[in-house]
Amino acid sequence: MKKKWTIQNSLDLYKIHNWGAKMFSVNKKGELTATPFNGNEKKSISILEVVKELQEEGIEAPYVIRFHDILHQRVQKINLAFKEVITEEEYSGKYLGVFPIKVNQTREVVEEIVEAGDDFDLGLEAGSKAELLSILAYHKNPDSLMICNGYKDKDFLRLACLGTKMGRKLIVVIEQFSELPLLLEIGKEMGALPEIGLRAKLFSNSSGKWEKSSGDSAKFGLTSAELLYAVELLKKNKLIEKLTLFHFHIGSQIPDIKTFHECFFEGGQIFAELCKLGAPMRYFDTGGGLGVDYLGQFTNNYPSINYTIKDYARYIVTTLKEICEREKVTEPSIITEAGRALTAHHSCVILNIFGEVSYKDNFNEHIETIKSQNSLCKKMKSLYDIKKSTRPHELFNWAIVTRSQAMDAFKMGFLSLSEKAFIEKYFWLIMEKLSKYTELHESLENKLVTQYLSNFSVFQSIPDSWAIDQLLPVVPIHRLNEEPTQIATLADITCDSDGKVNHFIGEDGEVDTTLLHTLKENESYFVGIFLTGAYQDVMGDNHNLMGRLSEAHVYYDEAEPTGFYIEEIVPGETPSDVLETLKYNPLHMCSKVKKQIDKRIKEGKIMPREGVKLIDFYEKCLKGSTYLNFK
Ligand SMILES: *Cc1c(COP(=O)(O)O)cnc(C)c1O
Repeated sequence: MKKKWTIQNSLDLYKIHNWGAKMFSVNKKGELTATPFNGNEKKSISILEVVKELQEEGIEAPYVIRFHDILHQRVQKINLAFKEVITEEEYSGKYLGVFPIKVNQTREVVEEIVEAGDDFDLGLEAGSKAELLSILAYHKNPDSLMICNGYKDKDFLRLACLGTKMGRKLIVVIEQFSELPLLLEIGKEMGALPEIGLRAKLFSNSSGKWEKSSGDSAKFGLTSAELLYAVELLKKNKLIEKLTLFHFHIGSQIPDIKTFHECFFEGGQIFAELCKLGAPMRYFDTGGGLGVDYLGQFTNNYPSINYTIKDYARYIVTTLKEICEREKVTEPSIITEAGRALTAHHSCVILNIFGEVSYKDNFNEHIETIKSQNSLCKKMKSLYDIKKSTRPHELFNWAIVTRSQAMDAFKMGFLSLSEKAFIEKYFWLIMEKLSKYTELHESLENKLVTQYLSNFSVFQSIPDSWAIDQLLPVVPIHRLNEEPTQIATLADITCDSDGKVNHFIGEDGEVDTTLLHTLKENESYFVGIFLTGAYQDVMGDNHNLMGRLSEAHVYYDEAEPTGFYIEEIVPGETPSDVLETLKYNPLHMCSKVKKQIDKRIKEGKIMPREGVKLIDFYEKCLKGSTYLNFK
């Protein structure tokens, strides 16, 4: 007898405890939970309960849920890892992280990180003028750093000088040589010069998806000759005391710890050389790259990672310690620019499944009654009638061939549409029957897959899934005490064949399909897409005019019976909002539609009362949701 499906089976199937990194689990009712406090199941939030509360507030899926406690925990986790390693290794420099806001510029996210990072002097990093404008306003702690990366023009540099005038510990990182003379000029003009950092192009090769961020073809960074020339230029201007930081960034989501180690050695050596050239170097900035285990595998198989945050911290600290000892230079403060690892876990997209597209669409009771004398129909039916096949492969091939012959016959007019339907129905019934033979699983998996129609847009909510085939964990948020038996992929509601999800966590790596529960009539089925807090939240686009999703900001609260409260609901973009970004004027649009309706009223084609209602309805839809609403 088959064993009863347990919650443990679901935890294993979806690898929730692996990618979840102690932040997600399942409760006794089979509901997916957020466990922001280091996996403490007693302090958990049922995501289905959040969905129910939002429903009471009149908010329907899809939406983003942000768990602010998770964000808080991630800030602590990364900072504490460095603190511990620094103590254990008796390293004399400090750890001073900065959050690169390009990873998630959402105001509430930046505010939460600034708040949570206050105890650790966590700073902010900007890579563009708009980002610098943002951090100049939202950076609070004067003991934390403000770092400017990216290509810069005069106004960018003026804004940086403004930050220095505001008393911030602001460092401008020179990404291409020409920025340096420009900065010196602007510094003079503004009467304040920020501290200066130099970004190097490392020779050591990176790995993973962003391999090209380092090495010869890197877009940013100075060559060895340029580094030397920069020092010379600063000395000539008697400004060498401004050069305090050395930086490199080797790309994001580095799967293999070995890659870092090589880069730390090369970077550490350049740092030491800069010290010896007379620069008062204080900061060693290793950029981003700290990965997230999307695949839940703990291997160097992208997008998994084979190291912990503490492993990462230890490699930086011990490598620097060794180099500084050897080169007799002072151990610098360590800066990392972790964005992905800080924000990925805290947000997820919740969507409702509203239908399915599958081979079962070929099944229809009426087809049963067809009494066709056509030999292909008889053949297919006789294949179906075989009780127990000793040679399932043979049966499979016969069915495929017979169907193919039938399609040819149809094209030539030898088969009616109802006979074609009959053949298709029995073909799929045979495929379904054959699914119990494990030797056929591989051939059948792609055939028996059902596309679950998902109320969201891949392009808006998980752009990397489409653009770079990024895997993100997909897990139903309820019914986890039931066996999921449907082989499925997700299809979104954009009119784009690319709007689908077919990267899932499998037993030994990435697979094209997942298992989900069969849909029940009159019962909603909710699926969550997780680890969407880094890049996805802010990089989405309005393909098909699907707007930004509504957001619920959730906090844990012991005193609440459900264990949480929703601090804020940020409404999603309406059709009106989305159209305005493309320079439409919704008022104008209403009046244009009204004019046409008025004309029809005058012609007697529409009654005036109905006309008014139609215009009201048009206006209401402009302020409604861009997504499907089944209420
Ligand atoms: C993108 C970027 C980061 C963030 O990288 P993650 O891998 O997301 O942590 C940090 N520093 C620089 C310079 C970047 O361009």
